[in-house]
Amino acid sequence: MKLIRVFYNGKTFYGALADQKVYPLDKEAKQYGPIPLRDIQLLPLVVPSKIICVGLNYKAHARELNMDIPEEPILFLKPPSSVIGTGEDIVYPKMSKNVHYEGELAVVMGKQCKNVSPKDAPDYIFGFTCANDVTARDLQQKDGQWTRAKSFDTFCPVGPWIETDFRDLDDLTLKTMVNGEIRQEGQTSDMIVTPFELVSFISSIMTLLPGDVILTGTPPGVGELKPGDEVQVEIEGLGTLINKVVEEE
Ligand code: MG
Repeated sequence: MKLIRVFYNGKTFYGALADQKVYPLDKEAKQYGPIPLRDIQLLPLVVPSKIICVGLNYKAHARELNMDIPEEPILFLKPPSSVIGTGEDIVYPKMSKNVHYEGELAVVMGKQCKNVSPKDAPDYIFGFTCANDVTARDLQQKDGQWTRAKSFDTFCPVGPWIETDFRDLDDLTLKTMVNGEIRQEGQTSDMIVTPFELVSFISSIMTLLPGDVILTGTPPGVGELKPGDEVQVEIEGLGTLINKVVEEE
């Protein structure tokens, strides 16, 4: 099922997307369906309690940066306030002169969990979608740790929908395009730690809650965005996340 979060008739609710129509899933909104997609306002898919990200999780990206493969996943957080949906603008902050895209596969958690095994992880996952781990590269290098660089409002586009049928994740193609030109292309089979292993590892540290998002790292080819650019993250079967870059006012 392709799941989206919408605003319609004064209400916010989840709906299933099929043939450009939205079928409301919330009881109070069922009466409205099906609603043509063009009539609803799309909202960011999730309101997470946290976004957990992994740095350096593609072998080819580690080679590109001439870095050793980490012994254990290197984790960092993005704040919930950085999330936007497809079609919303990424705001280029005045504080940075070097903002990068990082196209990534995102896991959306469905159930609370702690200390789950990789084998049981799928039972706690709600679905998968595309994400862009937007990063102020100059501030990441300057600060030596990543909080400021990764945390600006609008720096975590997620979408276009949550795919809840996810049997074949092992070898999906991920592409990032800037103004229609391919900049990143990778296979999820190149990941060092699989999404299920990541859920297990993270849940051994912190309790994961429904709606929490895990960004699983980026393939090679990260690079610069400029105001006026349109960036797309496309993953096989998961649709295309599209955002424009605008200057901070
Ligand atoms: Mg990243």
